[in-house]
Amino acid sequence: MLLVLLAAAVNVPLAVSLFRSRSELQAGQTLDLRGADAAPRGWPSSTPHDDPWPSPTYWLLTEAFGYREYSVMAADAETNTAYGMDTQRYGWPLPVIEQKMMWWDWDDPALKGPEPDPAPALLATGLIGNPLLVGTAVFIPPVLAPFVLVVLRRAMRSRRGDCPWCGYDIRDLDCCPECGNEAIRSADQPTGTSRPPPG
Ligand SMILES: [Zn+2]
Repeated sequence: MLLVLLAAAVNVPLAVSLFRSRSELQAGQTLDLRGADAAPRGWPSSTPHDDPWPSPTYWLLTEAFGYREYSVMAADAETNTAYGMDTQRYGWPLPVIEQKMMWWDWDDPALKGPEPDPAPALLATGLIGNPLLVGTAVFIPPVLAPFVLVVLRRAMRSRRGDCPWCGYDIRDLDCCPECGNEAIRSADQPTGTSRPPPG
């Protein structure tokens, strides 16, 4: 719980510092799709008009630690129209801040209205998901380790013919004289009444 709160506390500052240092990010191009390959990817963020934008014809992804930039365009030479969206997302492991810039035919009266350069927005999935993901990932191994060790130790004892609970040698006994628990036999430790040997 403490770790989740700690992760929550650094979540937004980390995204903000990534956002601030964006000019120094060593981003590498990871995906470059053109034409028909770009269309199935769709737009990386919501488009601003009531009518959906045409499918992208150019889709470029650039990545660095805690940073993703999607440069996406739909250009149609026949109708001489073009739509563009540059979306930058900051945060780790999920994005927390999104900033986007959009381009379209601003002179088209049908497309008037929305803001092409909206203010950076906080993303709820990262805001809530990052602390949970980080907190859980850090939390699980130390909590599970003792249980795993106990199970392994019992398995080794019962393999050796010892009492799995206390380690006392109970090779030919059904009940442990040391702790009083019933013996647990592993498959390769057959007792007199167990199944016949294979073969
Ligand atoms: Zn015992």
